[in-house]
Amino acid sequence: MPKLSVRNLDVRGKRVLLRVDFNVPTEERDGRTVITDDTRIRESLPTIALLRERGAKVILMAHFGRPKGAVNLKYTLRPVADHLHSLLGHPVSFSSDVVGKVPEQIIAHMQDGDVALLENVRFHAEEEANEAGFAQALASLGDVYVNDAFGAAHRGHASTAGVSKFIGQSAMGLLMEKELKYLQGELEAPAKPFLVILGGSKVSDKIGVIKSLMEKADVFLIGGAMAYTFFKALGIPTGNSRVEADKVNLAHEILGLAKAKGVRFLLPVDNLETQEISATAQPRATAENGGVTEGWEAVDIGPKTIALYQAEIAAAKTVLWNGPVGIFELAPFANGTQALAEAVAANPGTTIIGGGDSVTAVKKFGLADRMTFISTGGGASLELLEGRTLPGVAALTEV
Ligand code: ADP
Ligand code: MG
Repeated sequence: MPKLSVRNLDVRGKRVLLRVDFNVPTEERDGRTVITDDTRIRESLPTIALLRERGAKVILMAHFGRPKGAVNLKYTLRPVADHLHSLLGHPVSFSSDVVGKVPEQIIAHMQDGDVALLENVRFHAEEEANEAGFAQALASLGDVYVNDAFGAAHRGHASTAGVSKFIGQSAMGLLMEKELKYLQGELEAPAKPFLVILGGSKVSDKIGVIKSLMEKADVFLIGGAMAYTFFKALGIPTGNSRVEADKVNLAHEILGLAKAKGVRFLLPVDNLETQEISATAQPRATAENGGVTEGWEAVDIGPKTIALYQAEIAAAKTVLWNGPVGIFELAPFANGTQALAEAVAANPGTTIIGGGDSVTAVKKFGLADRMTFISTGGGASLELLEGRTLPGVAALTEV
């Protein structure tokens, strides 16, 4: 169902309640909270700029960390307000309360084009409980609601969903729109061959995604620790590699499903194995089709698999990647993930990266600019790829 976009909202002179994802990583340095990666804040700038240009009063709400429903100044959004001020070159009023007199007074003094940020919505237990009275109190601060917090859209909380029941119109922001365009729209009828690279630590995390994409994909390239649960299902030796013993049957079922649907489901033909997980480890490649050596652990795909997978990637028209194919955080085990990332970057078709660690990997290799789209959501992008309806999207006004 198409949803109302912020682009089609009349906001001049109106108070726009804008939910953003400001859940940024921070560090304590000399008793000060320092934002170590402001990507999420920057990603919200286009929507804030659009609203300001059109003469709205922009009232931002966001969560930060897990204060568990109580005021805890360790999780105050005040440093984010200061940072946003410097990014916008325009003051950002900070409301130390989320609802009530404090924000009401600040908002009453706002001019068109001004920006305010409410304190962490998770300082109230009612936020995560999606309590109606709290959602209504939030809604009373604005005339219209815009949700641009894709990273929190899989949560049905007061500020991500409940609020829309008490306000006239609810629209998606530009970031939300872009995420839905690539993770949903583009994958509805993808240009073929449609190739999916799946890796990461657990099969159990990705079952929903595998089953959902099995309906559309032509080829799966499997890597990461999850490959070894499939090895187990096929009776291939796994050594000390990570295997989810309780998911072996499921792996078997997935292999059967792929066969029945004529979907090519490729597993590594060789692996990098090690006896030590460390930055100075000296892994070796396993023999082709021999599985993993007893007493050794597979930590990356091997050179033959890299070559095979690169050729598959080069032939694809649409590539979706979720989950690194090795322990890329350690240099000796990062080869496979880097080689595939380079192959995806070189593909002139549509290339979409979703999922927290895969995105980190692509950025680490300096290849982010060369992908068609990189999702900002971890859990939210996985749920969308599973074909689930996100509460934060469902709550928006239909057009
Ligand atoms: P994403 O966040 O992209 O969805 P996951 O969270 O599923 O990815 O998995 C990422 C993690 O999987 C990384 O921290 C990586 O070190 C780990 N990983 C990848 N391959 C292996 C492996 N062979 N053995 C153990 N861990 C692995
Ligand atoms: Mg992850």
